[in-house]
Amino acid sequence: MEENLIIEAKKLLQSSKKIAIIPHRNPDGDAMGSTLALYHFLKKLNHQPVVISPNEFPDFLAWLPESQNVLIYEKDRNGTKNILEKAELIFTLDFNALHRTGEMENVLNTLQVPLIMIDHHQAPDTYAKVTFSDTRYGSTCEMIYDFIKSFGNGNYLDKTIATCIYTGIVTDSGSFKFPKTTGKTHRIVADLIDLGIENTEIHNLLFNNNTYESLQLLGKALQNLRVIKDHKTSYITLTQEELDLFNYKKGDTEGIVNYGLSIKDVIFTAIFIENKEEGIIKISLRSLGDFDVNQLSREHFNGGGHNNAAGGKSMLSMEDTIKQFENVVKNHPKLKF
Ligand code: 5GP
Ligand code: MN
Repeated sequence: MEENLIIEAKKLLQSSKKIAIIPHRNPDGDAMGSTLALYHFLKKLNHQPVVISPNEFPDFLAWLPESQNVLIYEKDRNGTKNILEKAELIFTLDFNALHRTGEMENVLNTLQVPLIMIDHHQAPDTYAKVTFSDTRYGSTCEMIYDFIKSFGNGNYLDKTIATCIYTGIVTDSGSFKFPKTTGKTHRIVADLIDLGIENTEIHNLLFNNNTYESLQLLGKALQNLRVIKDHKTSYITLTQEELDLFNYKKGDTEGIVNYGLSIKDVIFTAIFIENKEEGIIKISLRSLGDFDVNQLSREHFNGGGHNNAAGGKSMLSMEDTIKQFENVVKNHPKLKF
């Protein structure tokens, strides 16, 4: 990590401080893993950190060490606002623009406190006093590992911090298969295993937590899978009614999008999940090779992310969203074969 940025961060962390650490809305394994890893590290440095998530995190992450102490902005707006207003320093992790915190952005915009961004998404905004942004990293958790090492506090890495970091690396790398998985990723993981993490058990906690209903929902999603054959594209839809039928809980649709890519020759896939409460269709996009879904999401679906994994949303009905999607696909110069 850049030495001048580490020096800047060290200055801000010289004396003991009240610190808020914030992941993006709808936090995933990397967002929760990185915020909690940093939380445990800052505690060891004698700061008073607190993790405040914009909204609820999924059950499959609820075993992360001290995840029970994570505060949820949308469940306690006044209480968390109060804490944010008293914070002397704020870290924002695993996102590149304050609107990724949803409604919480309005509070963050009123604060005068210095912010530190640690993130691996493209095109970071400039709100932070110190910006660690590097798209070469496969996960923010790997950045946290380097951050702790660059601080000269590698000896503070312990099983608890390592467990959080490992979680983000596993989830953001699709269990070590996505293109940003490097030799360095594996060397970090080797160190985490030497620190005593229970890697088999972590995989078990992350991935073997289906319920009967969540598997039935997966079945429904697979029935809804469509292929746009001449464009090497597939997509899945899930309406609110379908989600309700299988008693949907946050996290139940995690990973379903990847089935669309598992079809031979398909290089681009999407899942459209209706959220009646928010009045949106939440979209996840995935691709193989050099088909850039980050760009596509920015242009057409109010979102962004990485080259091979991005998200976005649509304010149209499911039907109109799919019409728009099929239009984009059929007219895309890189999806003509
Ligand atoms: P997922 O599809 O798993 O929700 O997200 C895939 C990637 O895209 C993640 O890195 C996530 O942070 C990013 N992402 C998801 N939704 C959005 C969005 O609405 N806007 C932006 N800029 N990025 C998103
Ligand atoms: Mn990430």
